[in-house]
Amino acid sequence: MKVLSVASEVYPLIKTGGLADVAGALPLALKRHGIAMRTLLPGYPAVMRKIGEARQIATFDTLFGNPAGLLAVEHEGLDLLVLDAPWLYDREGGPYVDAAGRDYPDNFRRFAALSLAASEIANGKLADWRPDIVHAHDWQAALTPVYMRFSPVAHSVPSIMTVHNIAFQGQFGADIFPELALPPEAFSMEFVEYYGDVGLLKGGLRTAHAITTVSPSYAQEILTPEFGMGLEGLLQARGDDLVGIVNGIDTVVWNPATDSFLARSFDAATLKTRIENKTALAAEFGLEAGDGPLFCVISRLTWQKGMDLLVEVIPEIVASGGRLAILGSGDPGLETALFAAAGRHPGRVAITTGYNEPLSHRMQAGADAIIIPSRFEPCGLTQLYGLRYGCVPIVGRTGGLADTVIDANEAALLAGVATGFQLAPITADGLRMALRRAFRAYADPAVWGRIQAQGMKSDVSWDRSAGDYAALYARLLSKKGL
Ligand code: ADP
Repeated sequence: MKVLSVASEVYPLIKTGGLADVAGALPLALKRHGIAMRTLLPGYPAVMRKIGEARQIATFDTLFGNPAGLLAVEHEGLDLLVLDAPWLYDREGGPYVDAAGRDYPDNFRRFAALSLAASEIANGKLADWRPDIVHAHDWQAALTPVYMRFSPVAHSVPSIMTVHNIAFQGQFGADIFPELALPPEAFSMEFVEYYGDVGLLKGGLRTAHAITTVSPSYAQEILTPEFGMGLEGLLQARGDDLVGIVNGIDTVVWNPATDSFLARSFDAATLKTRIENKTALAAEFGLEAGDGPLFCVISRLTWQKGMDLLVEVIPEIVASGGRLAILGSGDPGLETALFAAAGRHPGRVAITTGYNEPLSHRMQAGADAIIIPSRFEPCGLTQLYGLRYGCVPIVGRTGGLADTVIDANEAALLAGVATGFQLAPITADGLRMALRRAFRAYADPAVWGRIQAQGMKSDVSWDRSAGDYAALYARLLSKKGL
């Protein structure tokens, strides 16, 4: 089976968040199910640098007014198609924002072009490769099924839309519609029209043959006004076509026994040697040595991630003998508040901003626990890395966090199944209570060691979920009349 995946970021080429991890790991996991996945992504400068010499296998005489090329290359086991369109992608700054952090004003065009190229590939643009299924990720790829729907040829190729976070919808003013090269009827409730605007994700969710999101709990939550962010009605109407499949992680990239970023590798059997990573991590962050727990946070610094709640509980973490190492960037107000907290508690709280993949590995390997007080979390990956690295997750009871971490309540502790701590309600007080429970458990090394070991036994690999995607593809292919 041949599947075209369409994504705006793919690890290890370009990453701003969990989408890249998923888009980079799923194709490898699907290989074991006999599925050949090719991934289309934009040719940002970082991508072009990393792929080096690549074969041009097709051209577009005009894609939104300019010529573009399609490059094919194998990279670390991934079969990539790179959309080479310098006037759209060759920019300093990130994939979505300029160097000053502002959204590129033509993002709709940049990602409509990606989607249009995908739909042409579905139509048979490449003489020797046509996908059986098209799998589009998030709003950036969401016009793919819409373009397919309005093209005369591609009806027979089923499409899947995966939502990694419904908070990001790709909503633009109605004035962009004429630029999308869609027929006038596409600007309607059945397609991309969204409360008078253009909603790219909305169009994809209406049009794709199946919808997935990244955990069973989140699949339920987005049916409600609290989490659906305006799309709950549409999703309810499409409830039969919506499933939640929890993300896995790349267990080769994230393996504490072989991870070259670490001061000391370890596995469940040699867990005690993990302490060397803790000592090194504390030193790296300029934190005091000590017996208390070392907490970490690796996160976008945003309201969604509950970082304001973290700010509120820092005095209690410090007063209880804990230390805290933070890696993240995001909301300037939250960054300032966290720097201020670090300034008030030198040697006990430290923050590093920017994006640092190797450091994120060292933190998972050295900290005792990772705090993830998200208000909503479609799946979340950092708790999965934490489980695998013996870094006990303390998580908001929501979405994928609720699905993947087993709370250390008395019953779970007795049964030996606990893998972390959940907080509910997701408030500063809820976080305080969860931290108190974590401090208590940490004080008894036998209890803490059991929680760590149990976490390390959790299956956080792609094995099961890749099978779920493979089964979904097979179901779609067997459906008549698509
Ligand atoms: P989201 O995609 O909502 O940001 P996830 O938990 O799904 O959240 O994925 C976040 C990914 O980004 C994880 O791989 C995490 O380790 C990584 N990450 C987040 N912030 C940083 C950072 N500042 N430096 C390095 N990695 C980071």
